[in-house]
Amino acid sequence: MADCIFCEIVNKRMKSDIVHEDEELVAFNDINPQAPVHTLIVPRKHIESIHSMKPEDAPLVSKMVLIAQKIAEKYKLNDDGYRLVVNYGINGGQTVPHLHLHILGGRRMTWPPG
Ligand code: 5GP
Ligand code: ZN
Repeated sequence: MADCIFCEIVNKRMKSDIVHEDEELVAFNDINPQAPVHTLIVPRKHIESIHSMKPEDAPLVSKMVLIAQKIAEKYKLNDDGYRLVVNYGINGGQTVPHLHLHILGGRRMTWPPG
């Protein structure tokens, strides 16, 4: 997808700190981390948002969560826990229109979110 930052990152036309990659997904550390661990899990396929995923994307989205488990293990977040976040649209606070799952950990999160 032209002009999509995350397509640029997954296709390695733009530099990022990649922590996992496979044929369907790439995970890299957020450029503006909101916690000691803040990684983004991104499908290689350009899907605009969680709200535009199709039934056929369900296995891919499940895999994003399974990779989040692996990243949690890598950063030793298992015991203390972590937060998974998907923002959608203006009110959800989405700023990059390419589906991504945030994994945040390493500090106590507050609730409700801002
Ligand atoms: P959103 O607000 O859409 O849920 O999350 C987008 C995230 O992407 C933000 O946390 C932001 O810091 C991160 N981000 C935006 N541009 C870049 C970039 O060029 N590289 C990396 N690594 N993260 C980015
Ligand atoms: Zn994209």
